Amino acid sequence: MRVPIIAGNWKCYKTVAEAVALVRELRQGLMNIKGVEVVLCPSFVALAPVADLLKPTGIGLGAQNMFWEDQGAYTGEVSPLMLKELCQYVILGHSERRQYFGETDEGVNRKVKAALRHGLKPIVCVGENLAENEAGRTAEVVERQLRAALRDISAEQVRSLVIAYEPVWAIGTGRPATGAGANAVIGQTVRGTLAELYGKALAQEVRIQYGGSVNPKNIAEFMTQPDIDGALVGGASLKAADFVAIVQETVRAKQ
Ligand code: PEP
Repeated sequence: MRVPIIAGNWKCYKTVAEAVALVRELRQGLMNIKGVEVVLCPSFVALAPVADLLKPTGIGLGAQNMFWEDQGAYTGEVSPLMLKELCQYVILGHSERRQYFGETDEGVNRKVKAALRHGLKPIVCVGENLAENEAGRTAEVVERQLRAALRDISAEQVRSLVIAYEPVWAIGTGRPATGAGANAVIGQTVRGTLAELYGKALAQEVRIQYGGSVNPKNIAEFMTQPDIDGALVGGASLKAADFVAIVQETVRAKQ
């Protein structure tokens, strides 16, 4: 049984004061929810105060990025050693990092290995852009990104990570994939690649999220699909009512 996981990616939104206010609202709304793991991913500067507020709740905390070295003269970077004091998860390889900050498949792999070395659970993002999608290259791109991200990752380690299939054309556009379309890529390409790398049984254990313009109205379409184990939510995670509704709908759909 794969426990569904809903993660909120707050991107470069919310000051520390706003993040604290949002967490206070979310704590209320998410208090009695069971059967779904919930993870909040605020900016680096909000991690410490949010960690304090989440302590008694069972809600998880994640960062949105990380450097691969433990420490050193790397001005502006945040290391796994620093993050592991504060949070359990880290989003790696998000398409915005690849697009605007030059992240490569190789860099994502170095980060995945560093996170796992320190007991942080990576949420590894893969997904094709619009041109690749229209050229019929979705499977090829997703498989390449996934194989690269998982290079030298053992079967034991792969169990603790989460994969997010996020078609780039669906992120922040209000144009989500269809439930069936996302399930096909996740079931065939993502789980298929995992099966080739680690065997069929292990491929069934790994949690795979969908991400891209998820909202309270469309979440059920994704969560009723057999191969989709949750969602990585951007825009809709910034409003407490919407994020709580997404989690509640997930509980209902997965019952
Ligand atoms: C994301 O940031 O990973 C994302 C899926 O964003 P949105 O939900 O806004 O499309």
